[in-house]
Amino acid sequence: MFSERFKEIAACLPANVKLLAVSKGQPSISISSMADFGQVDFGESRLQEALPKLKALEARKNLRWHFIGRLQSNKVRSVVRAFDFIHSVDSVALAERVSRISLEEQRSPQIMLQVKFREDPTKGGFAPSKLIEAWPKLSLLDHLKIVGLMTMAPIDLDIVERKSLFRDCRDLANKLNLPECSMGMSNDWQQALEAGATWLRLGSSLFGERSNHVNSPTDITKSG
Ligand SMILES: *Cc1c(COP(=O)(O)O)cnc(C)c1O
Repeated sequence: MFSERFKEIAACLPANVKLLAVSKGQPSISISSMADFGQVDFGESRLQEALPKLKALEARKNLRWHFIGRLQSNKVRSVVRAFDFIHSVDSVALAERVSRISLEEQRSPQIMLQVKFREDPTKGGFAPSKLIEAWPKLSLLDHLKIVGLMTMAPIDLDIVERKSLFRDCRDLANKLNLPECSMGMSNDWQQALEAGATWLRLGSSLFGERSNHVNSPTDITKSG
């Protein structure tokens, strides 16, 4: 039963660390039950899948929705309208677009910039050096509320390498004066926590295995 897993994990988190329940592949009834346990933040990676669920749950005004999938530019407006957080802004062009559309829509989603610390063709993300280079420009975008960085570890990294990758992310966020680090999934959240994560994105370890096949790393990032 997810109530037990949820309580166990929630109990070991320090006050500044938040749990994002990744509800992709889960029906709205499961989201609803988890919300009954006090969970407020839910993450979705595909807009087409998310919108009907958000609609079904719109009476629950306190829920906060996080977009964590690859963001296609033609989906920015819908995402800005519907989501409170976006974890996957991974280029200057996309950041500029999100900023402009946020102004037009009078919305201000909290933004995490996605960073890629290892070569990985299946994932999006700024290379760290590129992010530093782009930072002066990004930080001038008036309507972009950048609060942190997001990263994912490549599937083949062992635990030690994961922790060091997460530390690199924390260091880069500190350097840019950004409080949030969205990092750590079901298989590596302890390492992310030790390295200074502030948002843990947990799917299967909270809800149990997803019913559809969206949980392989390639599928995750391909979909939008
Ligand atoms: C699916 C997904 C997660 C959660 O994955 P689990 O292994 O089920 O915890 C976290 N982050 C992103 C970006 C995802 O797409």
